[in-house]
Amino acid sequence: MKIKEIKNKMVLSWSNKQKLINERNNSCEICNSSERLEVHHKDKNIHNDDKNNLHLLCIKCHMEQHSEGKQKIIKTLEEYKRLASTRIAGIIGINQPYTKRYLDELEKEGKIKRIEETTATYWEIKQ
Ligand SMILES: [Zn+2]
Ligand SMILES: [Zn+2]
Repeated sequence: MKIKEIKNKMVLSWSNKQKLINERNNSCEICNSSERLEVHHKDKNIHNDDKNNLHLLCIKCHMEQHSEGKQKIIKTLEEYKRLASTRIAGIIGINQPYTKRYLDELEKEGKIKRIEETTATYWEIKQ
């Protein structure tokens, strides 16, 4: 897996984030809030730091942007019962890093559970 690579990339984009916050008046581009700003990648590709692809959002608006992807994961797991992360990414059509982030968030929200097996990590709806 290229987890390390992805993490490094996220750390590197920190200074870009500060730049973006300054450029976009320190406020959410949807609701103008200045609380807990985050950078959203419109095309869900964290490697695409093109300015047109970046969206400065407060945490609330940011979560809304991702709720669709998370809903898709829930629906997919309801249908397939148990799936590996890589298969989920393929089925919902979202790249691996974002799918992983959604899965982690859904796990924290208590909606799905992780099953670690030697071959892969599987996911199921938490009953
Ligand atoms: Zn907002
Ligand atoms: Zn985002």
